[in-house]
Amino acid sequence: MKRLIIASNNAHKVKEIKDMLKDFHFEVLSLHDAGIDIEVEEDRDTFMGNAYKKASEIYETLGEEERANTLVLSDDSGLAVDHLDGAPGVYSARYAGVAHDDGRNNEKLLQELQGVPEEKRGAQFVTAMVLLGKDLDLRVLGEAKGRILTELTGTGGFGYDPLFYSSDLGKSFGVATSEEKNSVSHRGNALQNLIKELRKIEDRHRL
Ligand code: IMP
Repeated sequence: MKRLIIASNNAHKVKEIKDMLKDFHFEVLSLHDAGIDIEVEEDRDTFMGNAYKKASEIYETLGEEERANTLVLSDDSGLAVDHLDGAPGVYSARYAGVAHDDGRNNEKLLQELQGVPEEKRGAQFVTAMVLLGKDLDLRVLGEAKGRILTELTGTGGFGYDPLFYSSDLGKSFGVATSEEKNSVSHRGNALQNLIKELRKIEDRHRL
């Protein structure tokens, strides 16, 4: 059975991906499960650039034999706001300066959009996903469209969820259940797109 290493130690992310890939016969592992301890600097100026860098640096750490039997899946996500020319973009996690301070990031986003009318508050969450293996290099994108609210709405999810009104759901990600969010999310869409690509090549790669 082929091993698929997810370039993350986030248990929630690993479970979500595991569930969605259950029809393929992969042994799905987190970085920790695979015994890989590596910090990849996300210093590229696109989501795809960062996702590719992560997957390739991890793939490089594998030995020759492991490479033949292992795939590495990485993703990079963030929020792109139209009125801010795509910011916070690849800086989403550290928009207000400190990494993963959701409260301050949201506060900064509200400030930057102060006085901007509803019709100009369009935004999308974006995920770039890369799957690397021997003779395999798949790159896909996923998006969730919506707009930025004028105040925090709901306490669910994480990051910018309470400020993101999803056009698909007709409500904020902060009040959506995780099932609702997963059904329209950027990560969910990217994974669906990846699965479509995998189906096309599964015979050739014996997945
Ligand atoms: P990552 O690449 O998945 O680690 O995401 C980077 C940053 O983008 C996170 O720290 C959040 O600030 C933001 N982000 C990504 N996905 C989401 C989401 O689904 N909801 C809210 N914020 C998100």
